[in-house]
Amino acid sequence: MNIHEYQAKVVLREFGIPVPRGIPAFSVAEAEKAAHQLGGPVWVVKAQIHAGGRGKAGGVKVVSSIEAVTREATRILGAPLVTHQTGPKGKVVNRLYIEEGSAIEKEFYLSALVDRATSRVAFVASTEGGMDIEEVARERPEKIVTFSIDPATGAMPHHGRRLAQALRLTGSLAKQAEGLLARLYAAFVAKDMSLLEVNPLVVTGSGELICLDAKISFDDNALFRHADIAALRDITEEDEKEIEASKHDLNYVALDGTIGCMVNGAGLAMATMDIIKLYGESPANFLDVGGSATKDRVAAAFKIITSDPQVKGILVNIFGGIMRCDVIAEGVVAAVKEVGLRVPLVVRLEGTNVDKGKHIIATSNLNVTPANDLDDAAQKIVKAVREAA
Ligand code: GDP
Ligand code: MN
Repeated sequence: MNIHEYQAKVVLREFGIPVPRGIPAFSVAEAEKAAHQLGGPVWVVKAQIHAGGRGKAGGVKVVSSIEAVTREATRILGAPLVTHQTGPKGKVVNRLYIEEGSAIEKEFYLSALVDRATSRVAFVASTEGGMDIEEVARERPEKIVTFSIDPATGAMPHHGRRLAQALRLTGSLAKQAEGLLARLYAAFVAKDMSLLEVNPLVVTGSGELICLDAKISFDDNALFRHADIAALRDITEEDEKEIEASKHDLNYVALDGTIGCMVNGAGLAMATMDIIKLYGESPANFLDVGGSATKDRVAAAFKIITSDPQVKGILVNIFGGIMRCDVIAEGVVAAVKEVGLRVPLVVRLEGTNVDKGKHIIATSNLNVTPANDLDDAAQKIVKAVREAA
């Protein structure tokens, strides 16, 4: 789960991490009031959406009068903001964050994430802050320093010194970097984060190291033990189909291809997506209905897939183990009877109760193309989609 910048800064503040003073605003009037409360003389009006690159897109404005706060708030609120991370339609801005302005001497990049290669929390630091870290990684990889923390020891003073050295900080700033690293690590572990990105981390004119931007993602599987974090969820930032899927405990991720996939098991779902690609089309989603899906859950999954206007064909690929093929077949038939079927459907069933499942499909009077195996299924759905196009 992702949260907004202003929420992330509240979390960081709880751990004693330095962030500028700021107040969220949901209307122009609230933005004005926030500006008065903060006092100036410089303010930053920041669009709150779950996407980066706001600065370049006009979603972050540094201003020096209340009138300008009002003007920028009026311009940004309610309008879509298109950044390189939002896609061409952009995201409508419903929330603003009004911050006190900071005098920036230097901008750095700093993030923490779970590094699967080392099974540790890794820190990534660079003196090249404020810009796309992907670009720095591509063009000047030597400017990026990475180190990981042994979970048995936690953050140690030497990690802090490593960070200070990576950012070429000395004296008081080096001390601040050491304290910052320990606190960021503590916050990361305590809140079960999966990503904590500060870009930029800045040195101010008065010699302070502060987090000017913050992006946090949390491990969904640990949200049950963080009611405070779960409450920060903003479902208007999420894909409607994904919200619906989460209500039914389905592992669903919306993608931008044309072939809807319903599969049991994450590995098989990945393989199904790969083979669709192999035959030249793209999956419209990742969907793992799980091993213990009921007829109702299968029907819900099918409805989510068909509700996507981009879907030009559907591939159901089930290897029945714990999941029985007849349950899948019943779910598919029930869903099609309810919402209809306007695109080709290829079904490949194998495993437990396969004959029962095939019988249910065959006697359903639905226009379903059966397939013998995964390869056959992928070829058939790709062909059907192309013929329909
Ligand atoms: P992003 O573009 O979505 O990553 O948004 P950021 O919060 O990182 O803001 C983009 C840029 O705006 C930063 O890299 C800074 O250069 C600038 N910026 C943000 N806040 C301030 C501020 O208080 N003072 C000044 N001078 N610049 C700021
Ligand atoms: Mn940023």
